Amino acid sequence: MTDSSAAQMHCGFAALVGRPNVGKSTLLNALVGRKVSIVTPRPQTTRHRILGLVQRPDAQIAFVDTPGLHSHARRALNKAMNRTAAAALEDADLVVLVVEALAWKAEDDLVLRRIVRSGRPAVAVVNKVDQVRPKERLLPYLEQLGERHGFKALVPVSALKGQGLTDLLETIAALLPLSAPLFPGGEFTDRSLKFRIAEMIREKLTLELNQEVPYGIAVEVERLAEEDGQLVVDAAIWVDRAGQKPIVIGARGERLKRVGRSARLSLNALLERRLHLTLWVKVRENWADSARALKDLELE
Ligand code: GDP
Ligand code: MG
Repeated sequence: MTDSSAAQMHCGFAALVGRPNVGKSTLLNALVGRKVSIVTPRPQTTRHRILGLVQRPDAQIAFVDTPGLHSHARRALNKAMNRTAAAALEDADLVVLVVEALAWKAEDDLVLRRIVRSGRPAVAVVNKVDQVRPKERLLPYLEQLGERHGFKALVPVSALKGQGLTDLLETIAALLPLSAPLFPGGEFTDRSLKFRIAEMIREKLTLELNQEVPYGIAVEVERLAEEDGQLVVDAAIWVDRAGQKPIVIGARGERLKRVGRSARLSLNALLERRLHLTLWVKVRENWADSARALKDLELE
């Protein structure tokens, strides 16, 4: 017996690539309909390759969120982030280049060159169209974009407002190869609970720290247990210099308390579980340049 009787659907990996801050993670969450990747106003929030699955009767699309490809990566962490994004691009059945409406920059050129080099088919998603008024201003931009590369499609969307997403899914599904389903039903990400908890804490920290130190921060869930019907989590926040520790903790511990409260509330809602969260701040000097640390954080 062969597999030929199995239902055929459009299946494959679609890599979301683009320069930092164009809205790749927001788009992933909007397409999957759940928060699988963290989002902040700061560039380089996403550090890992994160999978989000969209299941439809006719298609299974495995979207791969990636760190923004950026120039001038100096630290080991940033180099690893660029490698992660480049590898996801090379492995994809389809590349989804995410750009920002009316804002083509030198780093977009860098990403486009990677796409060209990969030889993978690509669509361009023009995000943040909610910021464009009047809408006609988009037309010359779309025309120029079409001239930059032989994209299979150009799709304007607003990931934030949920506009254009149905069209985008149709377009992407149609471009994926036909095969038997690749993934079991019911899953929506490949990331562990530990990882998702650590990421949510890092999101709240990044939002709270604003201009200060977020690039020097990592979060590791050290203990995850089930006690009296609730999840008990001990998480360590790594800072890469001793001087950052008091900044993260804040006066009388207020900042760390706010981060903990906000992470706990979001996780309660996301996981539909009660959660007891304890945060620690640990100095781990120059972790962003340590191969060992990057391994511990699943960054390499
Ligand atoms: P990434 O670095 O490409 O993953 O970008 P993020 O998803 O983290 O988003 C970066 C910032 O852009 C955040 O402040 C988002 O709220 C914002 N953003 C994302 N999509 C949209 C959109 O469609 N419209 C607007 N106005 N802002 C957006
Ligand atoms: Mg991101």
